[in-house]
Amino acid sequence: EAYLVKLREQEPHVRSFLHVSEKALQDAQELDRRVAEGREIGPLAGVPLGVKDNLCTRDMPSTGGSRILQGYYPPYDATAVAKLRSSGAILVGKTNMDEFGMGSSTEGSAYQVTANPWDLSRVPGGSSGGSAAAVAAGQCAGALGSDTGGSIRQPASFCGVVGLKPSYGRVSRFGLMAYASSLDVVGCFGNSVMDAAILLEAIAGADKNDSTCSPQDVPDYTSNLLPIDDLGSKPLAGIRFGIISETIADGVVEDVLSAVKQAVTHLESLGASVREVAMPNFSLGLPAYYVLATSEASSNLARYDGVRYGPRAHGEEVMSMYANSRALGFGPERRILMGTYALSAGYYDAFYKKAQQVRTVIQQDFKNALEEVDLLISPVTPTAAYKIGEKVNDPLAMYVGDLMTVNVNLAGLPALVVPCGLAKGGTSGLPVGLQMIGPAFREESILRPGHIFE
Ligand code: GLN
Repeated sequence: EAYLVKLREQEPHVRSFLHVSEKALQDAQELDRRVAEGREIGPLAGVPLGVKDNLCTRDMPSTGGSRILQGYYPPYDATAVAKLRSSGAILVGKTNMDEFGMGSSTEGSAYQVTANPWDLSRVPGGSSGGSAAAVAAGQCAGALGSDTGGSIRQPASFCGVVGLKPSYGRVSRFGLMAYASSLDVVGCFGNSVMDAAILLEAIAGADKNDSTCSPQDVPDYTSNLLPIDDLGSKPLAGIRFGIISETIADGVVEDVLSAVKQAVTHLESLGASVREVAMPNFSLGLPAYYVLATSEASSNLARYDGVRYGPRAHGEEVMSMYANSRALGFGPERRILMGTYALSAGYYDAFYKKAQQVRTVIQQDFKNALEEVDLLISPVTPTAAYKIGEKVNDPLAMYVGDLMTVNVNLAGLPALVVPCGLAKGGTSGLPVGLQMIGPAFREESILRPGHIFE
């Protein structure tokens, strides 16, 4: 009840939700009954959570932030959603997002613009901006998001909450609306690293409905976290951190750099060693990502044609009916065109194939770097949260903001974002996040030390 009151109170200002569940209280009361009857209620019993709108929920509309799926009720729950429900979580609603995950500010939603709870004139980041803002505004205790190129980490950083992007294949993508299938990952937001660990434990693991989901065992993430009550004992002694040189170079504002440097000092004071690690191909990841992500999007989004999904527009014949339906349903985002172009005959080798080669180089660079150090760290974004409207007409400026996050998806690695301080200069008072990157399927390796940023 307290969360629902807060949700309603904050919603006119923050606008994080596309749909608020009408039966959240009923679901909670059902848990009470189970307790009274002495039945199992699960580890997340009664915890109110938000769900990004590109995850299918059978009892709430799932639009992916797009007009083309307005009013769509999927016939099933995404696996991650089903797992939360069976753990006893109460799903309070569906959170706003850039259309099908394509964006970095949540201004690309067909429905509404979400505001950053720290400063309502600023963006919450994106594409999972609704989930991050909802957690930051206290509208729910945690939330699910998805991350194709930074969509959990960048909004977590902008909104001052914890965001976890698991390894590719750690969490089932069944029921997640595909943006770029080789990069998409379901992950979570929380107020603490402990919360993120609890949520990951609930949603991770093999799924017969997703053949790319790994059968590897899910470790006990929560009991491995470093104790935070005794930081005097140098709990990070022996852990070697490498800060990626290319992420603290030109283009990153001083406000962000100084908060990250402060975090480095904190790590060192707790016994860790921190040194710079060069990844010379780092900047190639961004253009490669935007070729691969748009190519996969153009293919994945072909299913929204007015026949299989979405409202059907009139047309003289079937091709014009498709075209009219898509023109009505999709927003102004250009990525389908960009991706179709990159995949078209004659251009495939120059763009798509080249980008795949760059992807292999980036993967190898991460592998080498993670042999030199245990974990990599970096800022999450070159600036703190920017003003609503500031970059909306300059897609390139927005894409550049993804420089530090996309490579992690190209390599399929897990990454954690923890709030590490507040900006001081021009964006004074806004939160800044620190990104920690670990080896594939070793989420515990980042959660464990990340916990000290409580
Ligand atoms: N901003 C990136 C993009 O628009 C990442 C989005 C995401 O992770 N879904 O592609």
